[in-house]
Amino acid sequence: MAIKPRIVVIEDEPEISRFLKTALEAQGYSINAVPDAKTGIKISSAHPPDLIILDLGLPDMDGKSVIKSIREWSQVPIIVLSARDQETEKVAALEMGADDYLTKPFGTSELQARIRVALRRGSRKEQPEEQKYMFESLTVDLLKREVFLKGKAISMTPTEYDLLAVLARKAGRVVTQSELLRTVWGKNAEENDHYLRIYVQRLRQKIGDDPLNPQYVFTEPGVGYRLREAE
Ligand code: CA
Repeated sequence: MAIKPRIVVIEDEPEISRFLKTALEAQGYSINAVPDAKTGIKISSAHPPDLIILDLGLPDMDGKSVIKSIREWSQVPIIVLSARDQETEKVAALEMGADDYLTKPFGTSELQARIRVALRRGSRKEQPEEQKYMFESLTVDLLKREVFLKGKAISMTPTEYDLLAVLARKAGRVVTQSELLRTVWGKNAEENDHYLRIYVQRLRQKIGDDPLNPQYVFTEPGVGYRLREAE
């Protein structure tokens, strides 16, 4: 039998902690649930897990400090849990090195999708990068810098392609606005979030994505963008 991936859940709200434990154990994960940051850091360092799910509002430590502390010795995937109106907290957590976030309340399918993508990132760290992104009729060849829609090459400007490539390399995970601006336009562009809105709109047009009901490029309000998980 395969070894179960082990997840440390650091969450002080008993109902959410119980929900996570039940839902994840049913999915075949092994769960250590703890109610505070200090215990979470301690057991994660003593016995490194495959993934950490971290609530940002803990009684003993600020979530960002927890991420900072863990990132000093580990690249383990971290998914943070936060409330709906905590966009700046989520962005700060991602900038500190969290992999992704879930906004409370969340359902099991969203939870499973985030975990699957984060665990894949965790197991891939020693392997070469993905060379192709594929979902339904869209293919992005990251080596040749080519994009195909229904098998037909689409022409893109270098900026449109760079934006799509950053999202494709992190497919399934959120990429913050400042990371996109920094990577595509350079570190002096971090304030220019209107570039992003314009280019995401162009990108959606080129790949035939409906901005009102996107199938590929999802907006994460106040945080960034997420390209659909590859097939
Ligand atoms: Ca809490």
